[in-house]
Amino acid sequence: AAARPTPYLDDLNPAQREAAETLEGPVLMLAGAGTGKTKALTARIVHLLAQGKARPDEILSVTFTNKAAREMKSRIGRMLGQTVEGMPWLGTFHAICVKLLRRHAELVGLKSNFTILDTDDQQRLLKQLIVAANIDEKRWPPRMLSGIIDNWKNRAWTPDKVPAAEASAFDGRAQGLYAEYQARLRELNAVDFGDLLLHMVTIFQKYEDVLARYQRWFKYILVDEYQDTNVAQYLWLRLLAGHKNICCVGDDDQSIYGWRGAEVGNILRFEKDFPGAVVVRLEQNYRSTGHILAAASGVIAANKGRLGKTLYTAGEDGEKVRLIGHWDGEEEARWIGEEIEAMQGGTRGLDPMSLDDMAILVRASHQMRAFEDRFLTIGLPYRVIGGPRFYERMEIRDAMAYFRLAVSPDDDLAFERIVNTPKRGLGDKAIQTIQRAARDNGVSLVEGARLCVENGLLKGKGLKELGILVQSLDRWHGQVTAEADTHVELAEMILDESGYTAMWQNDKTPEAPGRLENLKELVKALEEFENLQGFLEHVALIMDNGSEEQGAKVSIMTLHAAKGLEFPAVFLPGWEDGLFPSQRSMDESGLKGLEEERRLAYVGITRAEMLCTISFAANRRVYGQWQSALPSRFIDELPEAHVEVLTPPGLYGGGYGAAGMAAASPVLQGMAGSNLHEKASRADVYNSPGWKRMQSRAQQRPMAQPKESRTMTIDLEAVSAYSVGDRVFHQKFGYGEVMGLEGDKLEIEFDKAGAKKVVARFVVPAAQ
Ligand code: ATP
Ligand code: MG
Repeated sequence: AAARPTPYLDDLNPAQREAAETLEGPVLMLAGAGTGKTKALTARIVHLLAQGKARPDEILSVTFTNKAAREMKSRIGRMLGQTVEGMPWLGTFHAICVKLLRRHAELVGLKSNFTILDTDDQQRLLKQLIVAANIDEKRWPPRMLSGIIDNWKNRAWTPDKVPAAEASAFDGRAQGLYAEYQARLRELNAVDFGDLLLHMVTIFQKYEDVLARYQRWFKYILVDEYQDTNVAQYLWLRLLAGHKNICCVGDDDQSIYGWRGAEVGNILRFEKDFPGAVVVRLEQNYRSTGHILAAASGVIAANKGRLGKTLYTAGEDGEKVRLIGHWDGEEEARWIGEEIEAMQGGTRGLDPMSLDDMAILVRASHQMRAFEDRFLTIGLPYRVIGGPRFYERMEIRDAMAYFRLAVSPDDDLAFERIVNTPKRGLGDKAIQTIQRAARDNGVSLVEGARLCVENGLLKGKGLKELGILVQSLDRWHGQVTAEADTHVELAEMILDESGYTAMWQNDKTPEAPGRLENLKELVKALEEFENLQGFLEHVALIMDNGSEEQGAKVSIMTLHAAKGLEFPAVFLPGWEDGLFPSQRSMDESGLKGLEEERRLAYVGITRAEMLCTISFAANRRVYGQWQSALPSRFIDELPEAHVEVLTPPGLYGGGYGAAGMAAASPVLQGMAGSNLHEKASRADVYNSPGWKRMQSRAQQRPMAQPKESRTMTIDLEAVSAYSVGDRVFHQKFGYGEVMGLEGDKLEIEFDKAGAKKVVARFVVPAAQ
């Protein structure tokens, strides 16, 4: 057959092409930031699809965040010239494992509608176990235990596999509590985050047939950000990959999740694990200007434990990295707000820049508050990426608990949360009675409550109210199962019938209206999902969603969440010792923690394409107290030739002042004579030819447009995940056969549920 055209490979350099075109056998792309690893990986997927090497659902591709997965999906679509609906296995480790575990839950003693606990639920459960074991929870807090257990799960240790050397943890009780915790989770038909991988590793190790089926199914495996995989993820990948077509990409200098169990060693021993691997190195950086790249390289060079890579750019030097000190954190936020407005508004006769092109990257999430407050005050639209903030709110958690119970009635944690919210006259004693009834009969709390009602174990108002609640829960669960109403209607009904909405309507505190707004917002969010369970799953998984209203916005996120992303303009505030690097890393003996912080600095600087601004404050309020701070030691490591020190604005109380700055840091001292006083105000910077050049570059790049605007058409068969006759699995309707295709919908004849039309992304292929 004639070779199919490959326009999507045209804008790759030879090394990238090699990585994208070497389809058979293991491939490792080990290269620095902005060298086009993710781009080449994406082109590889497109190549696989376009050449008909695999159907979209036969490709397993792992990204580090949900956001990255979404972006990759839309890029693939753009490069193919059509949207890709059928890539069910493109996502984070967690998202992929949820799907797998739903199919095989019974193999680890769970039902397929298991609940995913968030950290809050996890803590509450652990607290119960700690209290029940008569352990002093003040000395031995649940948070500490969850840290230990998470860590063990990251290493793929089930309770029986925890090595003896570790067993002294938590006063020698951790292993026993871990076993109890796992048993309790099973009773609750629940998993925590770590379980998603751990259970799948267990299943793959124990059930060879299941593993073999997926080994056959996934023809190609691709992993981005491989340097940040932990042991459990690594084992999972190795089990699935065998010695086949696996392509991993990463950068040892960007390993920043060591604290969460990631092992940079995984990437360094790839060639040993996969003999005959083709190793591709990329050295050309396409993202950042010369000064930015040089500044980042200068900082990371101070790390001892690294492979060491050279990076160069063919682009222009651009603006130097800008450095500015402020009097305090508020002034820093105020200054950055003004900078952003100036850049955005095109004031002073400059070309405007989109807010979407600007980001503020912080070391610790508590730093965000100052920016959020400031931006709210001045009405500057922003989005926070990386925190499930909205879903952490009390009213949202309450409402979600109701939804969880409607989906799976044995979710005891959810029941505990709402049983007396709104007030139903069920005090601690009543709840203990319910718990006892449940325990004595080995049933869930809802069932325990039913027993209490039937046998009149409670008195008065409480008894009556509990009866109503149990009845309502039955009815809601029935409605979820029967699908009589849409899940959005059902959700509204649940909030009304439970009295939860009324509780806030009758509440006279100033927060109540906001809470009602949030509940409305929650129902709105539901509309994007096919059913309640899908939504609950989504909420449990979101690590990186922001509010999705329209319009351009500045992004605020942690450095950790920024990995893999890029922005024309980046602000890096809070470069002070004790904040960045963190106090913890500075207190630690050895360099490990500090080197990880430095890699984080490298990640931060290399997110910037054209303008990178680092700032620090002389004073910060920490827990209501003022503390003075020294500029970060990383500032000293910035190569002088690539940095420009800006004079503090001095408008709001003076800023750090030239003398103060110089006294604080030797690097700054070195610069003081040459730079500090001459260095100009912002207006001069904006009027400099370099800035204008950057502006026009930003203009040339259509803002809303993809960088890869190339499109091509290929026959539909290669991209549509499904064809007539395929066996598929749907969360709610079970197994069925594809009878027809219609846009993004499939007509499916379900074995049990009959013929239905469903959105293609809600089904997964049934592994034969
Ligand atoms: P990171 O390590 O930060 O994840 P990366 O190596 O994955 O970076 P990409 O995000 O893939 O790098 O690419 C960085 C930028 O360079 C992107 O804007 C991308 O479109 C561009 N780019 C990559 N390769 C090329 C190329 N061959 N020609 C032109 N631009 C390129
Ligand atoms: Mg990348």
